[in-house]
Amino acid sequence: MKTYNHYIGGQWVEPAQQRWIDSIDPYQGKPWARIAQGCAQDVDRAVAAASKALREGPWATMLPTERGKLMVRLAELVTKNADRLAEVEVRDNGKLMAEMRGQLNYHGEWWRYFGGLADKIEGAVMPIDKPDMMAWTRHEPVGVVGALTAWNSPLLFIAWKCAPALAAGCTVVVKPSEFASVSTLEYAELLKEAGFPDGVFNVITGYGQEVGAALVDHPDVAKITFTGSDATGARIYAQAAQTMKRVALELGGKSPNIVFADCDLDKAAAGVISGIFAATGQTCIAGSRLLVQNSIKEEFTRRVVALGQTARKGNPMAADTNIGPVTTPAQYQKILSYIDIAKSEGAQCILGGGPATDPALPGGQFVEPTIFTNVTSDMRIAREEVFGPVLSIIGFEDEKEAVEIANNTIYGLAAGVWTENMGRAIRMSKVLRAGTVWINTYRSLSYMMPFGGMKHSGIGRESGMEAIRGYLETKSVLMSYAEGAPANPFVMR
Ligand code: NAD
Repeated sequence: MKTYNHYIGGQWVEPAQQRWIDSIDPYQGKPWARIAQGCAQDVDRAVAAASKALREGPWATMLPTERGKLMVRLAELVTKNADRLAEVEVRDNGKLMAEMRGQLNYHGEWWRYFGGLADKIEGAVMPIDKPDMMAWTRHEPVGVVGALTAWNSPLLFIAWKCAPALAAGCTVVVKPSEFASVSTLEYAELLKEAGFPDGVFNVITGYGQEVGAALVDHPDVAKITFTGSDATGARIYAQAAQTMKRVALELGGKSPNIVFADCDLDKAAAGVISGIFAATGQTCIAGSRLLVQNSIKEEFTRRVVALGQTARKGNPMAADTNIGPVTTPAQYQKILSYIDIAKSEGAQCILGGGPATDPALPGGQFVEPTIFTNVTSDMRIAREEVFGPVLSIIGFEDEKEAVEIANNTIYGLAAGVWTENMGRAIRMSKVLRAGTVWINTYRSLSYMMPFGGMKHSGIGRESGMEAIRGYLETKSVLMSYAEGAPANPFVMR
């Protein structure tokens, strides 16, 4: 079993308090690696390394084009190591190898895209309304960035956060989830191999309340970019205000998949299943509410259940597995308790509805893919994020009612619309309060498309051109070239 330390200033550094945490393989239910349990002292060291790299040395003086070239080199290394990294992440969080391999092969595109943007961060020269004055803007790196990530897709979040941050010229301290840190630590080696100067990318591990909170509090961290639950996000938002940090939050969801009677029912059924059972439902974009038009509700429900029944549970490393384990024991209990709540509220369970008891599944953290019907919007199962393979079906009569139900949530991360009526598709894309609207598709992400949430689903956008702005501060420069006597010093000019 390998023991990992913090990665600070290009070195592997033992935790100050000499404590480590077991990292559990959720499929086997056994420890498979050990990670450092950090404390505030470790955070200080990591932030000091990141601050030094930001202000002096090769990164501080590196031309943006060179930064971009390093990022492209990293993209190549990630692609070269895609299978190995995918395997590490599967061991850590139980996601499917089939999905992770694809994700890691695509992952390099974020570094290529933002590497290409590194030397296109342009200010503007303003036609200023003052005589004999020249004025322009500069966009400068915001500073040291603290990146806090969730356990469900640690490496994807690194790309989303660190590629624009490094393109902007920032340095980063990453704090991955205590449940899935190993892939991020392995990734650090690739940045070294690509040639990033020491201190540009640092990783500290440990518990959120201890090491994460210390990073949020640290006065030399200029920005926190966070992916996780809305409860933690709210705490971080409030805490970061004490030191006036910039904050970006990628939080949870209760996304609706809205199926109209005029759609291609088989495609929609496949989209609904991929929205809720892929990644064992442990994704922020899970389409956990199926809103289906009453005229096809019975027929469509039958198709969704039939497809859901084909989902094979098993070893996440196996190519034919569709449903892997739940990542943590606490999450497993949470999903089961929501299933009980749904039953007690009167929702009708028509698939699954409990733990999977197959003795061939060793770690024990498997939940049956579950579908509830006769769900109403006031039930907790329709309002709260479960983060598991649990689908709630709600009927609607017409477009107006579909929109009302879809938007009747504190969340606003994503929504799916299934219809062959293009006018309706466009109308729905305008009125749904969600950061992403998918039409006749679901769970499709690209480095080119801004991603993020409205309402309680977050603040800010990752990916796409606008992501880089979140890592820049605008500076206005005004220069006088006036000749003659000095201006009146007692009035504004
Ligand atoms: P979480 O909020 O428990 O933890 C996220 C990270 O924050 C971890 O690294 C954790 O150690 C750290 N943390 C916890 N408490 C902290 C504190 N007080 N101060 C600083 N850091 C702290 O979330 P999770 O359980 O790891 O992930 C699941 C959640 O993430 C779900 O709600 C899901 O919807 C959300 N998520 C959102 C997105 C998105 O892009 N919108 C993507 C994936 C997951």
